[in-house]
Amino acid sequence: MRADEISERARAIHFSSLVFDTHADTPQRLLFDQFDLANRDAEGCVDIPRLREGGVGAIFFALWVPVEITGVAATRRARDLLDATRKQIEIHRGDLALATSAKEIRMARAENKIAVLLGIEGGHAIDSDLAVLCEFHALGVRYMTLTHNAATEWADSSNAAPRHNGLADFGKKVILEMNRLGMLVDVSHVSDLAFHDVLETSRAPVVASHSCCRALCDAPRNLDDSQIVALAAKGGVIHITFHDGFLSQEYANAYRALATEDAFDEQAARKIYGGNEARMLIEEQRWSDESIRAGKLPQVSWEKIVEHIDHAVGVAGADHVGVGSDFDGAFMPAGMEDAAKFPLITEGLLRRGYREADIRKILGANTLRVMDDADRAGRMLRSEKP
Ligand SMILES: [Zn+2]
Repeated sequence: MRADEISERARAIHFSSLVFDTHADTPQRLLFDQFDLANRDAEGCVDIPRLREGGVGAIFFALWVPVEITGVAATRRARDLLDATRKQIEIHRGDLALATSAKEIRMARAENKIAVLLGIEGGHAIDSDLAVLCEFHALGVRYMTLTHNAATEWADSSNAAPRHNGLADFGKKVILEMNRLGMLVDVSHVSDLAFHDVLETSRAPVVASHSCCRALCDAPRNLDDSQIVALAAKGGVIHITFHDGFLSQEYANAYRALATEDAFDEQAARKIYGGNEARMLIEEQRWSDESIRAGKLPQVSWEKIVEHIDHAVGVAGADHVGVGSDFDGAFMPAGMEDAAKFPLITEGLLRRGYREADIRKILGANTLRVMDDADRAGRMLRSEKP
C-alpha cells in the first residue's frame, strides 16, 4: 500500500485526531548539523513539512546522551540539545509551540501549531543529582528514559550487565522525585528487574516511550506480555516503536548473526564524523538500508507496526497503547520512512476492524491522559506534608 492509497475514512479520522509521537531523536540534527526544521530534508525523518503531511500534532524530542558521556558533561550534552530544540521552536513559532502539559498540547492544536515536548533519554544526564532533575523540569522536560544502553549509577539497562539488580536506592528517590514533579517515568531501555522496581516504586502511571512486544520480537528492549499487563494495571501506556530490529524477529536474528565484516563499522565512522552523533545515526541508517539491498538483512514492512499495536491491544486493551517512532534514531521499516507516512497506521488499524474511538486513543489520546494523570499525581504529592 502506498501513501496515496490511504482511504478517505482513514484520512478523515487521522487528520481530526491528535497524533502524538512520543520519541524522535531529531535534536541531534538540530545541535550537530544546525538542521532547520523548516527544510524538507530526505536525509532525516522529521521536519515541519513532513510533520504537517503526516498529521502529527505533538512530538517528544529526545535529548539523548550517549552512555560514554558521563558526569557534568552528560548534563551539558542534554542542555545543549535542549537549547538547540528551544531555538528551533522560537524561530518557527508560527508552526511549533513548546508544550509541557496535555493542556498546552491542546492549546497548540487550537492554534494549528505542532506541540514539541522535551524528554531526556538516559538518566545519567542528571549526574545523580535531584537538583539537576528539578532544573530540567523547570526548563520544560516532561519525561526521562531512566537509562540508555548501559546501567547508570542507579538503574540497570536492558542492554548491559546489571550493576544494581534493578534500581539502586537512589534510583527509587529519582522515581519519587519525578512523580512529585509530574514528570513521566519512561521504562524504555531499562532491564526487566529495573522495570519491576519502577512499577513497585512509582506513585503515578509510567510509560514506555518507544518499545515493542517481546512476544512478536524477542529483543531485551521490548516488553513481554506480563510487563505490558503490569504497565496497564498502573494506568500506563506502551508506545510501539518503528525500529526494524524491535519489530521483526527475522531482522533481529539476521542482525545478530551478521559476520564482523558485514556489521556497521562504528570506529571507522567515528574517525570521519568524530562526536557528531547526527552524522553517526544517519550513517548507521544508511548502512542498514545498504545491507537490506545487498540481501544481508531482511526488509521489514511498516505493517509490523500495526501487528505490534494489535498485539499490545489484545494484551492490555486499547487504553494502554500508543506510538513512539524513534525517527532520526533508528532503522525505519519500508513504507514508514518518515513522519509524512503516519496516516498509514490509521489505515492499517481501520483495515483490522478497529473502531474510530480506539484509533484516536492509540494515536494520541492515551498519551494525553497519562500526562494528565502524572500531573495530577504530582500535585497531590506536592501537597502532602513531608
Ligand atoms: Zn532509545
